[in-house]
Amino acid sequence: MQVSRETFNDVMAPNYNPAAIVPVRGQGSRVWDQKGDEYIDFAGGIAVNVLGHCHPELVKALHEQGEKLWHLSNVFTNEPALRLATKLTDATFADKVYFANSGAEANEAALKLARRFALDHYGEDKNQIISFKQGFHGRTFFTVTVGGQAAYSDGFGPKPGAIDHAGYNDLESLEAIISDKTCAVMMEPLQGEGGIISPTEEFVKGVRALCDKHNALLIFDEVQSGVGRTGELYAYMGLGVTPDILTTAKALGGGFPIGAMLTTNKIADSLKVGTHGSTYGGNPLACAVAEKALDIVNTPEVLNDVKRKEQLFRDGLDAINQKYKVFSEVRGKGLLLGCALNQDYQGRARDFLVASTSEKLMCLVAGANVVRFAPSLVIPDEDIKEGLARFERAVAAVVNG
Ligand SMILES: *Cc1c(COP(=O)(O)O)cnc(C)c1O
Repeated sequence: MQVSRETFNDVMAPNYNPAAIVPVRGQGSRVWDQKGDEYIDFAGGIAVNVLGHCHPELVKALHEQGEKLWHLSNVFTNEPALRLATKLTDATFADKVYFANSGAEANEAALKLARRFALDHYGEDKNQIISFKQGFHGRTFFTVTVGGQAAYSDGFGPKPGAIDHAGYNDLESLEAIISDKTCAVMMEPLQGEGGIISPTEEFVKGVRALCDKHNALLIFDEVQSGVGRTGELYAYMGLGVTPDILTTAKALGGGFPIGAMLTTNKIADSLKVGTHGSTYGGNPLACAVAEKALDIVNTPEVLNDVKRKEQLFRDGLDAINQKYKVFSEVRGKGLLLGCALNQDYQGRARDFLVASTSEKLMCLVAGANVVRFAPSLVIPDEDIKEGLARFERAVAAVVNG
C-alpha cells in the first residue's frame, strides 16, 4: 500500500502539521525519508531519542522482551518494571515509582497525588496548585490547565479549578500567591517548550523555601530535562534543590513510550490501592527498553560527554552567529539548547526550521523566537559538525531571503 504526506490530510485528524517528508528509517543520528534522502537529527524526536535511532542495545532489549512477555496489566507485577523502579530509586532522591505511558500521564498522577496528600494531611482547603507562565506539562485537561499558556486550555469548557500561575524566575510573583492553601508548586527545572529558560539559582532555591514554609509539595516536571539531557541524570542534581515529586518520560524509553512519577515513601503512601492506575503503565516491554536506556545513559562516560558535546554545539553556533548575527544568545544546558533570535528575526523561528529541513537537518523550535536542539546524547562528533554545517547553510538561506 502506497502512502505519502498527502495521505495525512485524507485520513489523519488535523491537529498536527507534519513536515513535507516522510521518514522511514533511522540509525544513530541519521534518518532517511521515503525518497532515500538522508537527514541529520538534531531534534531527537523532541528530546526523546536519547541514544539516537535503533541503538543496538535498545533493539536487543526490545527483541528479547518481545519474545518473553508484552503485557499483563497491573493485576500482576513484572520483572522489568521491578528492575527499572529499583534503578530509578537507587539513582535519585525517590523511594517509590509509579509508571505511566507519557509525560502528561506522569504529571496527571503527580498532581492528583499532591491533592490527595494534602487532603490526607491538612484537609480539603489545601488544594491550590501553582505553576509558571510559559510552562508546559502535557495535554490532558488537568495538565494543560496547569501549563502556563491559557491558549492551550481555552475552548474546552470549564477548567479544573484552584490552579494559579506565577512568573518563572520571578520569586515575588510566587510569594504573592502562595499560602497555606497551596498543596503543590509544579515547575520545569529548565523550561523547554516555553523557550529554553534556565531557572536562576536564587529562584529555584527560593521556590523550594516557599514550598517548605507553606507545606506545599515541590513537583519538578523533568519530562524534557531528565535522563541525562542536561549532563546530569536529572536536572535537579545540578541545581542543589531536591523536589518532593519528579516526573520523567520522553528520553526515559529512548523512543518507546513510557513515563514515571518518582516520590518519597511518605508522599507515596497517599496513593493507596485503587486511587489511581493505568492499563499499560509499567508494562514489561516499555520497562525493559527503558531499563536498558537508563543503564547506558546513567554512566559517567555518557553524562560527561554531554557536557563536552554541548561545548561543540556552542562553539559552532557562536561561529555561525559571528558571521550572520541572528541570535541574541544561545541558552539552555547540556544537549537541550536554544538559539534565541535577535530583534531582526523576531517571530521567525519556524523559517529557520523549514530552511534546515531543506538542508537535510532536523531541528526544533521552542515558541516563535527560539530554534531548539535536543539531539541524541551519543551523537557522533562528526554528525554534530556536519549538522552545524547544514544549519549554517540554512541560516544563510534565511538571512539572504
Ligand atoms: C513533552 C512534555 C510533556 C508532555 O509529555 P507527553 O509525553 O507528550 O504527554 C510534559 N512536560 C514537559 C516538560 C514536556 O516537555
